[in-house]
Amino acid sequence: MRTLTIREPRSITIETSVPPQPASSDLLIRVAACGICGTDLHIYEGSYLGSYPVVPGHEFAGTVEAIGADVTRFAAGDRVAVEPNLPCNNCTACLGNRQNFCENWQAVGVTRAGAMAEYVVVPESAAFGIGNLTFDEAAFVEPLSCVIHGIRKLSVRPGSRAAVVGAGPVGMLLVRTLRACGVTRMTVAERNRARRDFARQSLGVPVLSDASELEQDAYDIVVDATGVPAAMAHTLEAASPGAEVLWFGVPDTDAEIGFRPFAVFRKGLSVHGSFTSVRNSMEAIELLSSGAVPVADLVTHRIGLDEVEGMLGVLAAGSADVRKVLVLP
Ligand SMILES: [Zn+2]
Ligand SMILES: [Zn+2]
Repeated sequence: MRTLTIREPRSITIETSVPPQPASSDLLIRVAACGICGTDLHIYEGSYLGSYPVVPGHEFAGTVEAIGADVTRFAAGDRVAVEPNLPCNNCTACLGNRQNFCENWQAVGVTRAGAMAEYVVVPESAAFGIGNLTFDEAAFVEPLSCVIHGIRKLSVRPGSRAAVVGAGPVGMLLVRTLRACGVTRMTVAERNRARRDFARQSLGVPVLSDASELEQDAYDIVVDATGVPAAMAHTLEAASPGAEVLWFGVPDTDAEIGFRPFAVFRKGLSVHGSFTSVRNSMEAIELLSSGAVPVADLVTHRIGLDEVEGMLGVLAAGSADVRKVLVLP
């Protein structure tokens, strides 16, 4: 099998080896589609906590090729998506049902071999059947799970008015999921022209060119999907009295933010952060397979393993025309 490995920051090799054998409670999966996300870019650039070498790829779907002796839910040929975060289920965080903060956290494509390879081994407990979803769609189960985890922190009600800052792939998932939850009036802000045009045409909502243009005190729900401190500060100003703000985008680890704490006090705002997900894959599969959250139009590139390094360079440069890139190993 061919495997893409990040040997050290900015150093990628592609090697050929024999596919691994699944252990007794594992599945061997033939990878059909694997999304590239910001985390992969951080691993490539060396700005992510983790050790090298690593095979990246944590947003993926494929076909079960072989099963371990103790596997009960799957058989060879089954089509699955995978929840890459692997909690130990035996630490204080896990026992408190906060598996996303597991003290012994492992993740497929981060701390153990991921899906930028023809085959990957995962525990049975991390795999979910995907029904009639295409593999392209099923590659969104992981990012959509994170979006669901974030939105579940909010009390979205029928008729809620929302603003989302950032219309990249995750911003688009947030908008569509909020709509599925009952948001009726939606405003989007996006600085990138191509993404703005796409959001306007595919969502049919007003799309502003900067978070600073959002109406003040106007939205019940305001979500940042950029991680940019200036944009995050604007979310507090756009929030209506009693509103909820979700800071979903990933800021730089040492970024700081200037904002008016008086606005948080006077408007009684609730500000939420959200880190990964906790068992939201079944909800994600339901949103995708019901059509409530369409994703096919978010895929702009489908590439092979040999093209990944070049594409990471394009993504690092912030190319306008790239939305979701899927790797087909
Ligand atoms: Zn990701
Ligand atoms: Zn744990």
